[in-house]
Amino acid sequence: MQLNTPIENITNIGPVYKRKLKRLGISTVSDLLFHFPRRYEDFSNLISINKLKINEVATIHGQILVIETSKSWKRKLSITEAVIKDKTGAIKAIWFNQPYLTKTLKAGEKAFFSGKVTLSPKGAYLSNPIYEKGDDSEGLTHTGRLIPVYPETVGLSSRWIRYILKPLLVEVEDQINEIMPLDIMKEFNLMPIKKALWEVHFPTSLELSQKAQERFSFEELFLIELFVLRERNRLSHEKSICLPTKLESIQRFVKSLSYKLTDAQKKSAWVILKDLERDYPMNRLLEGDVGSGKTVVAAIAALNTVKHKYQVAFMAPTEILAKQHFQEIARLFSDFRVNIGLLTGKQDQFRSKKLKNQVIEISRKKLLEKVLEGEMDILIGTHALIQDKVNFGKLGLVILDEQHRFGVKQRAKLCKQDTIPHLLSMTATPIPRTLALTVYGDLDLSLIDELPKGRKKVITKIIPPKERAGTYSFIKEEIKKGRQAFIICPRVESKDEENMSEAKLSWAKVKAVKDEYERLSKDVFPDLKLDILHGKMTPKEKEGVMRKFKNKKTNILVSTSVVEVGIDVPNATVMVIEGAERFGLAQLHQFRGRVGRGEHQSYCLLFTDSYTSKTRQRLKALIDSEDGFSLAEKDLELRGPGDFKGIKQWGIPDLMMSSLKDISLVEKTRESAKQLLIADPYLKKQPVLKNRLLTFREKIHLE
Ligand code: ADP
Ligand code: MG
Repeated sequence: MQLNTPIENITNIGPVYKRKLKRLGISTVSDLLFHFPRRYEDFSNLISINKLKINEVATIHGQILVIETSKSWKRKLSITEAVIKDKTGAIKAIWFNQPYLTKTLKAGEKAFFSGKVTLSPKGAYLSNPIYEKGDDSEGLTHTGRLIPVYPETVGLSSRWIRYILKPLLVEVEDQINEIMPLDIMKEFNLMPIKKALWEVHFPTSLELSQKAQERFSFEELFLIELFVLRERNRLSHEKSICLPTKLESIQRFVKSLSYKLTDAQKKSAWVILKDLERDYPMNRLLEGDVGSGKTVVAAIAALNTVKHKYQVAFMAPTEILAKQHFQEIARLFSDFRVNIGLLTGKQDQFRSKKLKNQVIEISRKKLLEKVLEGEMDILIGTHALIQDKVNFGKLGLVILDEQHRFGVKQRAKLCKQDTIPHLLSMTATPIPRTLALTVYGDLDLSLIDELPKGRKKVITKIIPPKERAGTYSFIKEEIKKGRQAFIICPRVESKDEENMSEAKLSWAKVKAVKDEYERLSKDVFPDLKLDILHGKMTPKEKEGVMRKFKNKKTNILVSTSVVEVGIDVPNATVMVIEGAERFGLAQLHQFRGRVGRGEHQSYCLLFTDSYTSKTRQRLKALIDSEDGFSLAEKDLELRGPGDFKGIKQWGIPDLMMSSLKDISLVEKTRESAKQLLIADPYLKKQPVLKNRLLTFREKIHLE
């Protein structure tokens, strides 16, 4: 048995279990060893029966005198009862709905039983105890000690995982090599890897399991830090195109705008222009709240690139947004001689400098020719841009909206030339700085931390159920004034949500939004035009719905969270969010950013029927703050980093996600990684670590 042996080669693991394990992301022996418990059950209190106390959890060892199952038809229950005896006394054990126990446990056998002592009118009994046959209290797996409880999937119990895992760990233990450098282990007093694996699965004490987990958290973060720092080093050795700042053109462009740039915009634009002047690729993340004006900053970088006769690829996450960017960029450059193309699923468009701001349809073939010949200055599109057929003749700059990452290889593949184009990635997902420095450590970071002046603050309110009717009347009034509204509804019953697969859940959401749409159309707003938007619609359908809404053909758009990114409808003034407590603050803030984009006073109304103080506290934070970054910090504090989509996409394991919350640990690991790379940039003295880093690179969805 090797660490990389596929799990199906383990005795007792057949196709069914293989499938179940795959669902947990486990496909090799090593994956299984690194599948860590979620918590522990403390059954270490091994005592004699006469010492048992009511309501205490304990383990006893004794002989089964009788065991039998009876059925209670009325309550649709099966009850298995046993009497267990040791030298000091006897006690009943009762299990519900586990009739098969009479097949495994027989009268006369000896076993350990762990469970809670419960009192009924008929006397004390052990409730649903866990059992483990045998006589020897040394080397127990399921009872008489701290028991690991694993994140489970349907039909895969923690008991089964313990049963498979323990002999496996014994068998491959000697193959597990320490990956952490010795001095770092010493400096931070980290538990050695073998011991840590034992302590994390079968701890001798809670303190030691804690220390073991700390070690793995440290290790994972350390690997991320090392990884991003090495990426950054690597990138600085690549060749890119020097694009010195064309100051005159840029000044003319800035003057042509109908507004003045904010200081934050100027600063970011300046830093980006400086990056473009260097002969190695820019790799920059531009973070700015919704509406902070990132597009115009990107346009400045694009203009500078185009003025050097190099091309720009501009990628948006959806077709609607690609179109929006196309229109916006065309508008911004209306006085400039720039060719701009739009490549979408079906309908490609082109605005040529000769056409005096007219936009024409263009065939895909023509468009690709222009891209290859370098005649297309800026090409805007969705992911369709990375298909093989798109080949830029002279690509200078790649701009990404809300996609964060784009490896060097991907960039190289986009173009003919052998230099790597610069990269500017933009996001409105506010990520706290510490986190950004870790997960985006290979990117330089610029913040636009100020909104353009004169924006009206969106009024945010929490609406309890009894004020709903009043709120609906308010929406009617706004619509009478000519405004429009969004209603977001996630509304899947939360208890169901937990048990649903991803696919099922997204259908449930669609059903929920359809039901709500019906209800609102019939009962609440019978005289108004409503429309519906959800994730199961084709891009074309979505686009049609959005276009109608933008052109004011619809009064109210009922939607799932798909409406979240970037859509610009300045006439919409009301954003209603059903079940607001179910969203992260950062996401709520993004919804709010959909309104307040025009001259009218706007409102963000949070519907909730949750009265817990935690909900109140969270939603109140949204009322008090307009700063996406501080809201993100708050989210991190209250819910952990799980909600940061960008990070989730990255495929970071759960354990690491929770370590990211620990800022001081993040800082410590970054510093150690930095020091190590200064001393040993190619990790020549750390072969195990270097190897691990390679698999880590594969695991993380980068290229
Ligand atoms: P985001 O950062 O969300 O992508 P946009 O670039 O779409 O924001 O800008 C939002 C709106 O703000 C646009 O209508 C844009 O024209 C406008 N805008 C951008 N910068 C400024 C500014 N400095 N002053 C006033 N309005 C601005
Ligand atoms: Mg934008």
